[in-house]
Amino acid sequence: MVERRYDKNKFEPWRDPAAKPYVSIDRVTKKFGDFVAVNNVSLKIYQGEIFCLLGGSGCGKSTLLRMLAGFEAPSGGSICLDGQDLADTPPYERPINMMFQSYALFPHMSVEKNIAFGLKQEKLPRGEIASRVEEILGIVRLTEFARRMPHQLSGGQRQRVALARALVKRPKLLLLDEPLGALDRKLREHTQFELINIQEQLGVTFIVVTHDQEEAMTLASRIGVMNRGEIVQIGTPTEIYEFPTSKFVADFIGSVNMFEGRLVEDLPDRVRIQSDELGGVIHVDHGISAAPGAVVWAAIRPEKIDIRRTPPGSMAENCVRGVVKEIAYMGDMSVYLVKIDSGKTVRVTLPNIERLSDDERIVWDETVYLTWHPGSPVVVTQ
Ligand code: ATP
Repeated sequence: MVERRYDKNKFEPWRDPAAKPYVSIDRVTKKFGDFVAVNNVSLKIYQGEIFCLLGGSGCGKSTLLRMLAGFEAPSGGSICLDGQDLADTPPYERPINMMFQSYALFPHMSVEKNIAFGLKQEKLPRGEIASRVEEILGIVRLTEFARRMPHQLSGGQRQRVALARALVKRPKLLLLDEPLGALDRKLREHTQFELINIQEQLGVTFIVVTHDQEEAMTLASRIGVMNRGEIVQIGTPTEIYEFPTSKFVADFIGSVNMFEGRLVEDLPDRVRIQSDELGGVIHVDHGISAAPGAVVWAAIRPEKIDIRRTPPGSMAENCVRGVVKEIAYMGDMSVYLVKIDSGKTVRVTLPNIERLSDDERIVWDETVYLTWHPGSPVVVTQ
C-alpha cells in the first residue's frame, strides 16, 4: 500500500488564507527585445501541488518555467521559493530540478549510473549515493533494469529514468516541460497516474508545462491557463472545465458549443439570453451580474446536451430543432454534429450505455431536438 502524503480530495491549501505559498511569482514579465513573452504574471503555488501551466504553442509557458529554473532572468517582477528571493541565485544553486521534454539520458551510461550522475558531481559519499539510487529505483519501479543501457529500455522506462534522475537530488521543486510528450497515448495515460503516485509518495512540488489539456486535467491539483504571455484563469481541473470565466478558456479546454446572445433578463437566480445563433432563448439557473442588453456567450458542453426524436412539451427555452449531419462512433461514446435551424452546427456527445438495435439508433439526416438543463450553460462576458 502506497503511503500518500496528501489526500487529494482534502488538499486545497489555496483556499486557506493563512497558508504560506511555496512558490510566489509576483508580477513577472519577460521581454525579448520588444516582444513580451510573459506579461505581468502573478502566481502562488503551494507545497505538494502538481501545478500545470497549460496553453497553446508560444503562449510563454516554457519561458516562465525557464525563469523559475534560472535559465532566463525576468525583465521585471520577482520569484520566491520557500520565502527566498531567487533573483541572485544561479541555476545550479537553486533547489530546483528540471526534467526536459527530450529526456537527454547519457547513452553510454547504465540506468543506475545515469541516476547517480548528479549525486557524484555533488561529491556525496559513495554509500549514500548507492542507497539513494536504490531507493529511487524502487520508487520508479526500475530496480530490475538498473544495469540496462538507455537504448535497451522502452519510452516509458526511459521517462522514468529521467524522472528518477531529477528526483534523486531531492529538489524542493521539480519543473517538468512536456514530461510525457514522447509517449504514445496509452502509455501516457498509464504514466500520468504513475507520476501522480510518485509525486504523492515523495511530496515534492511539481510544476508541469503542457499544451495537452487532458494531461493537465489528469495530473494537476490546479491549472493555470496561459494565453499570449498572460495567465487567464487559475483553478482546479473541475473549476476550469465547469466554470470557465472566458470564451478562450471554455474553448481551449474540451469542446464546447458557444452561442452569442443578448441578456434579456438577469436575476440572482436566473438569466435569459436571446440568441440569434441558437434561434431561441437560453435559460440559465444562476445570475451573472452583467448589464441588461449586454452581449454575452452561453457555453454548453457537448455531453450536457440531450438528443431526442420527439419535441419536448415546450420549445420555448433550452431547446432547438436540427438535422443530424455527422455521426462518429467512438466506442465508449458517439459524437453527433447537428445542424440547427439557424444554420449553426452543434456538437453533442452521448455515452454508448446500451447496444442499440438499428431502428433505435439515431441516423444521418434525421430531424432531432436538442435540450439541456438550465444548470448546464456557463455564461461568459468576454
Ligand atoms: P511551446 O509549447 O511551443 O514550447 P511555449 O508556450 O512554451 O510554447 P515559449 O517557449 O515560452 O512558448 O515562447 C513564448 C514566446 O517567446 C514565443 O513566441 C517565442 O518565439 C518567444 N521566445 C522564446 N524564447 C525566445 C528568445 N530567446 N528570443 C526571442 N523570442 C523568444
